[in-house]
Amino acid sequence: MKAIVVGGGIGGLATAVSLRRVGWEVQVLERAAEFGEIGAGIGVMPNALRALEWMGVADEVRKLGTPRVSGGVRASDGRWLIHLPEAGQERVIAIHRADLHGVLLRALPSEILFNNVEVTSVEELDADLVVAADGINSRLRAELLPDAPGPAYAGATAWRGVAPGPFDLPITQTFGPGGEAGILPLGDGRVCWYVATAAPAQASLDPVELFADWHDPLPELVRSTADVLRHDIYELPLLPTFVKGRVALLGDAAHAMVPYLGQGACMALEDAVTLASVDGDLARYDAVRRPRTQAVWKGSKRAGKFGIELRSPLGLAVRNFAFRALPGSVALRGMGRFTSWQVPAMPR
Ligand SMILES: Cc1cc2nc3c(=O)[nH]c(=O)nc-3n(C[C@H](O)[C@H](O)[C@H](O)COP(=O)(O)OP(=O)(O)OC[C@H]3O[C@@H](n4cnc5c(N)ncnc54)[C@H](O)[C@@H]3O)c2cc1C
Repeated sequence: MKAIVVGGGIGGLATAVSLRRVGWEVQVLERAAEFGEIGAGIGVMPNALRALEWMGVADEVRKLGTPRVSGGVRASDGRWLIHLPEAGQERVIAIHRADLHGVLLRALPSEILFNNVEVTSVEELDADLVVAADGINSRLRAELLPDAPGPAYAGATAWRGVAPGPFDLPITQTFGPGGEAGILPLGDGRVCWYVATAAPAQASLDPVELFADWHDPLPELVRSTADVLRHDIYELPLLPTFVKGRVALLGDAAHAMVPYLGQGACMALEDAVTLASVDGDLARYDAVRRPRTQAVWKGSKRAGKFGIELRSPLGLAVRNFAFRALPGSVALRGMGRFTSWQVPAMPR
């Protein structure tokens, strides 16, 4: 059986690795001149690590990344809102996105990878299975589901970077009024960070100014980073199906979500393994993946309500009180709702 994967991002490459493991012949078509990833760090959550384990590349990811536990959530003035206990926490692998992408790329033979190929229609593709892993602005999705709404602006903009350090910090998320930030330390002293604020798309804003009075070392992380990436955040309204005919939508093409749970790329890895586990049975893929990813999509949106969207003094006071009253063990169980995913038990 032959599959063509459109898009060579984390989702597309993970799909190629997974399908090959169950015996499919695969080609990956990527429109960019080279296979690569920009961006900063990514936290490979325990659910995503299980998917990478199934693909046979988890050791390589562990080698290039750093296992970390999460410290918890802080307010913008530095007070801890949720301090998580180490005991009982599964580790998150902190890794640069380019390194994760590189691990997947090296797991594939170069002769199945085609760059400079922009797919404009499914009709061009001769395969038993076509996987549309062509990102949030998926051209194939627009062709297959012309009535489904396209990406919508989620009301926030984010900056990301890797600060040279060296720093020794725990993984943390920080909630402020109208903004949030995240710190993901790599093993070598560098720190991946993001800051995000509620704002109109393309608003002219300076993150150095916006986050100058947030707790240390956030201002320094932003100031000391040479290459800062900015992304206005878009999300894809929930789709009625992830499949049509011989085509499966996967990753951001199927369920691009706001990044407040740090699960977008992790979902693409789960998708890839599930598609291979069901051996290309698209009805089962849709039945398994749509409820799961749409629950995480909704959870990410809910998380935004406590962080980036909250501005009123009363709302902030209630949130801070409620979070501080929450035992760490309960917060851990809440996180487990999203990270306890297991690879579906289906024949390899
Ligand atoms: C600010 C921000 C922070 C984030 N933080 C995290 C995080 O901490 N953890 C996490 O898990 N996720 C995070 N995400 C989400 C994550 O980046 C995405 O979910 C993930 O990269 C999606 O991967 P993908 O392979 O589906 O799509 P993409 O990475 O968009 O890849 C799509 C690929 O398809 C190619 N392509 C597009 N059209 C065509 C075509 N017509 N023909 C051929 N090729 C084509 C593109 O060039 C690209 O290479 C974050 C996102 C944002 C915006």
